Amino acid sequence: MHKVLIVDSIQQAGLDTLSQRSDIVIDCCPDQTSEKELLDRVVDVSAVLVGTTPITERIIDAARALKVVSRRGVGYDSIDLTALRRRKIPLTIVGSANASTVAEHTLFFMLALAKQAIAYDRAVRTGNWRFRESLLAMDLLDKTLLLVGFGRIGRAVSVRAAAFGMRVMVYDPLMTGAAFGEFPVEPVKDLLQGLAICDFLSVHVPLMPETAGLIGAKAFAVMKPTAFVISTARGGVVDEDELVNALRMGLIRGAGLDVFKEEPLAPDHPLTNLENVMLSPHTAALTLECAQRMDTVAAQNCLDAIDGKLDPALVVPNE
Ligand code: NAD
Repeated sequence: MHKVLIVDSIQQAGLDTLSQRSDIVIDCCPDQTSEKELLDRVVDVSAVLVGTTPITERIIDAARALKVVSRRGVGYDSIDLTALRRRKIPLTIVGSANASTVAEHTLFFMLALAKQAIAYDRAVRTGNWRFRESLLAMDLLDKTLLLVGFGRIGRAVSVRAAAFGMRVMVYDPLMTGAAFGEFPVEPVKDLLQGLAICDFLSVHVPLMPETAGLIGAKAFAVMKPTAFVISTARGGVVDEDELVNALRMGLIRGAGLDVFKEEPLAPDHPLTNLENVMLSPHTAALTLECAQRMDTVAAQNCLDAIDGKLDPALVVPNE
């Protein structure tokens, strides 16, 4: 028998994938299980299927029978990858299972910001009908979008933005020219050059030392005062203090943020007092359909690791 420990709640579709097997025992942790409790529960598990709870070195070292950590998502900054590598335990992600959903959320921010969704809704509810004459809304047609990061999600955003008639530029120094070929995009080599001409910036890079604070004071200094910043990537890639400053000073026009340096975002955080910001609670991938897809893939990754037949495309490279 193999035990799969499920940390953070999971959709029935994921449980069904595991339950089909008679050699699997499922142990579900209640939400917000502490590290201390996890240390006891992981001792005999073959697989840990995890959402956003950090999987620390101590947890990894306590899991003596561990064959895989399966992330229900694609970002893995909450997992101690060094500790996993030391024990040669693979970390899996869900690949493209959430790319279209996060891309839709990005377009949702772009449209809501461009069309002044919140301000216009408020105007109608408060009887300020003449607010329609402000002409604050703008078209996406012929506007320039800069994508920082052109992996699964960046690419999914590019085709959707191109369908709106946008010019799409990409900054991703790790990608070769050939990888851009089939997409309706123009690569830029210099980030600041791309930032200076974009009307929308959307960030799709992992959080790692090289990307922490990638979008900060220098970026806001060159951007157009009419530009919008969107991040569905990870808190910390956009420097929050510098962003607040840029929004207050009018260096940029607005922002749409799904991710924050500290989550949950404190209700009294300065971002919550800014009118030109739209916020969502790290829900860019959390449609029911996407949650079901992610949980099914994450559960299958547990089974594949136990069976010794992991899909290499879903294993985080062992660099
Ligand atoms: P991916 O690995 O397919 O793509 C990441 C891209 O970033 C790669 O093409 C890589 O070359 C590029 N990159 C790395 N360093 C860079 C740098 N310094 N400058 C520019 N580009 C750089 O990942 P993905 O599936 O597209 O997801 C991107 C990120 O989105 C994830 O790492 C995750 O943190 C985040 N995410 C958030 C949510 C959410 O719920 N908000 C959901 C899914 C993913």
